Amino acid sequence: MPGRTTHQTTRQILVATVVGAAVLVSSFGLYQWQRYQEELTQAERSLRSTASLLAEHTARTFEVAKAVLRVVVNLHDEAAEQGYDRHTVHGFLKTVHGGSPVFKAIGWVDATGNRTASSLFADPPPLNVADQEQFRVHRDGTAAADQVYVPAPVFSNLLNAKILSVSMRLNDRGRGFGGIAGGVVDPDYFTGVFRGVETRPSDVMTLFRRDGMILARQPTDDALLGTSLAGRRFMTEIVASAPTGAFHAWGLSDGAERIIGYATVPGSGFIVTVASTYRELFAEFWRSFAFASGHLGLALFALVAGAWSLIRQTRRRDQLAADLRRSEARFRDLAESSSDWFWETDDQNRFIWLSASVEQASGVSPEWHYGKSRIDFSDQPQSVPGAWDNHLRCIEERRPFQDFEYLRRGPNDDRWIRTSGVPVFDETGRYRGYRGSGRDVTELRRAEERLRDAVESIPGGFLMFNPDGRLAYVNANSAKYVPEMAAMDRIGDTFEEILRRTLAERLIHDAHDDPEAWLAWRLERHRAANGSTLVHYEKRVVEVVEHPTREGGVIVLRFDVTERERAQEATLAAREAADNANRAKSEFLASMSHELRTPLNAVIGFGQLLQMPRGNALSQSQQEYCRHIVSSGQHLLALVDDVLDLAGIEAGQLKLSTERMAVADTLSGAVESIGAVAAKAGIAVELSLETTVSDVRADSQRLRQVLLNLLSNAIKYNRPGGSVSVSAREIEGTRVRILVADTGRGIPEDRASEIFTPFQRLGAEFTTIEGTGIGLSVCKLLVEAMDGRIGFESEPGRGSTFWIDLPVETAAALPEAAASAGSGTTINAPLANAGGYSLLYVEDNPLNLRLVEYLVETLPDVTMHSAASGQVGLELARAHRPDVIVLDLNLPEMNGFEILEQLRMHPDTKDIPVLALTASVMPNEVNDGLAAGFFRYLGKPINFDQFLAAIDAALRTRPVKPPEGGYQAAS
Ligand code: ADP
Repeated sequence: MPGRTTHQTTRQILVATVVGAAVLVSSFGLYQWQRYQEELTQAERSLRSTASLLAEHTARTFEVAKAVLRVVVNLHDEAAEQGYDRHTVHGFLKTVHGGSPVFKAIGWVDATGNRTASSLFADPPPLNVADQEQFRVHRDGTAAADQVYVPAPVFSNLLNAKILSVSMRLNDRGRGFGGIAGGVVDPDYFTGVFRGVETRPSDVMTLFRRDGMILARQPTDDALLGTSLAGRRFMTEIVASAPTGAFHAWGLSDGAERIIGYATVPGSGFIVTVASTYRELFAEFWRSFAFASGHLGLALFALVAGAWSLIRQTRRRDQLAADLRRSEARFRDLAESSSDWFWETDDQNRFIWLSASVEQASGVSPEWHYGKSRIDFSDQPQSVPGAWDNHLRCIEERRPFQDFEYLRRGPNDDRWIRTSGVPVFDETGRYRGYRGSGRDVTELRRAEERLRDAVESIPGGFLMFNPDGRLAYVNANSAKYVPEMAAMDRIGDTFEEILRRTLAERLIHDAHDDPEAWLAWRLERHRAANGSTLVHYEKRVVEVVEHPTREGGVIVLRFDVTERERAQEATLAAREAADNANRAKSEFLASMSHELRTPLNAVIGFGQLLQMPRGNALSQSQQEYCRHIVSSGQHLLALVDDVLDLAGIEAGQLKLSTERMAVADTLSGAVESIGAVAAKAGIAVELSLETTVSDVRADSQRLRQVLLNLLSNAIKYNRPGGSVSVSAREIEGTRVRILVADTGRGIPEDRASEIFTPFQRLGAEFTTIEGTGIGLSVCKLLVEAMDGRIGFESEPGRGSTFWIDLPVETAAALPEAAASAGSGTTINAPLANAGGYSLLYVEDNPLNLRLVEYLVETLPDVTMHSAASGQVGLELARAHRPDVIVLDLNLPEMNGFEILEQLRMHPDTKDIPVLALTASVMPNEVNDGLAAGFFRYLGKPINFDQFLAAIDAALRTRPVKPPEGGYQAAS
């Protein structure tokens, strides 16, 4: 839009400029043309009058010439009559000639053309002019008798120039032609005549005869004199339009353009022309024309420059106007799109303008405000007390005001308005009113109120500190929930001032010892403002939560947490008691285990020894007793193991190491282990496996324990001649279910729920079937610890099927070699390096010593030595460097771990494998032992097979040794 107007204006200015220039140029041209025409007319007129003047002069000249020739004619006649001699004639002629400046010479010729008298000579040289024009016209009578005839100029040898002559006919005393009187016109004469007329330097003046013959010319040009211009058009016109006139000619002899004025010479009919060049005629005109043109050029330049500057100004103005419009539009848009609005009042504080956004923002149109003053639609009392007075005073004093809030009573509803304004003065400094912006803060106020309600409903203290650190707000509940602080929290005080007041009153228990230190700590916490702090008052505990505000202030929340703190303290105490109890229980279990195993070790061990086929065979009944001793001992050991196992698991001491396991291997291993028992009971155990059962993730030892338990139950609670079938199948691809089914008595339905409860035997306690009622409970704990499940189905009288589900191993399978690497030593493998080996057993219990002695005796080529204390054991070891050392851990003075350390430190003994043989078999004890570096960690009572296998493995690590004889027991 602005661009278009600018273009239009520019075009208009250009058009006006062009038109103005055209008018200027054309009027200038017209004026100059008129001037030119005037000049031309003037020039023609002046040339005409010059020509006329010349014509008159010429006429007079010819008058004079004629008069002189008449005198000459009369002299001729008189001389003829009087018979004057030549000298007399000459004298007269000379006299006449002297009185006439026109002629160069005068005289006459006779009828034959011979010169007979001359004013120049008394005795003139012979000259015949019979063939000359003037002679002929007079002789032939072509010319009038008493008229002067002017012939064409002819070349005169005497004067060496073309000369103009005049002549008159002489009569021979009435007898006819008697010659001619003539005179040679002085060429300078005409020049003088022409010069007498005011002319221009390049003017050409010419005297013509009517037939076009050039008689005289100024400037003189002999070549032209005597030539005829007859037939030339202008000649015809001149002759026709005489007596005077003017015409324009181009291309005359000198090629210059000229204006030619002409006039007829009175009396003779000759024509005189005056030719002036345009250049000279109009020199003045062209000078003034050039001068005027210069002015015109200046005027045009001024016009164009003016137009140009006007266009520039227009453009600039339009640009400014466009800028102004744009900035106006910008401000209008801002004003319209803003949620604020803008307003102006007159000097009476009445609204005269509001931006349209007021309607959108506050629901009332701008027009509604017009003519009203702010106070007219306000409800004064609702505002903050004194606020209106301040505001009105502000306006009275013409000061700016900021964020004045008032309630506007509108046509529909009441709105809270916040407004700011500045006074406006005109150029003369006169007050015109106010101008400013407004905002609807109703929602803000409501939100504030809601916030205040929320803050007031907090069941505790809420305090807000401004960025300047001063208390700005405190809720009423603060005094209610923390009454100590009621008188302390004063609006406007800093946190430190409040704290110091509180400390002066000795309200805070925590601060009694060192108030300044506590204050410094507390202020630091307040400054950090990012967490909660417990403050102990005399009667209550208060949790103070501090949080920074966006502006840099701090919100402080205070809650009475006395109850909670007390409860927490009680809980802590309870937990500590429980931990202590737990620790005591673990210690009790460990010592129980040790104390029970040590005698059992002897009981079972010696019982087994007795059963061994040795020299002194037992009687039948002794063998029977011996079996009872061993089986009861083993039963007791199983009971101890189970109870400890269960207790350990329940005490959280179960540590599993799960790994990928092939179900088939595990099952066949378990079935094989139980084989002897099953055979003894006369129960057939069959294993049926689906070919594709995934590997499971489980702890191999614990899974084996569970399987053996289930299998032994299936055998124990079977019927004579019954069977057990073991199988496995995959369920849903995520689990493998192992089933152990028997053909026994089944489980009564009403007691099924008790089966996994410890010590519940479901009536089996009244039978001869041995058991403790713990096995299944342990199974359940173990299976669940391996992420599995255990359950059963039973048909009383027909049999039961126990099952366990284990998760399928999802990780990639191990390579074959690695998987089989841990298969371990088989018990019955032959001893390595049978030959001279020695074994040192350090044990303070003589029963155990004996037992091991007997066991070692069964090994060929192994000599045993023993020591009852650690010190002796070490000395023996260093002296004899045995191939394997077996250590009891519970020794007086120096325990097994210390002995091991000493052995490892000595170069002679550091490589000897050391086995621990101990009654300390709680899982954590075993782990500690292996970590310390024992080759094997074996429990008491001694498991013979395990013991012998461990000895075998240890000896395999030794180099071959020759049999050795001299090796004395240290005891
Ligand atoms: P225990 O066998 O030592 O008594 P368990 O925890 O292994 O203890 O078993 C608990 C009880 O569940 C057993 O006493 C027995 O009454 C019953 N029970 C276990 N397995 C079977 C089974 N296969 N058939 C019948 N009853 C069983």
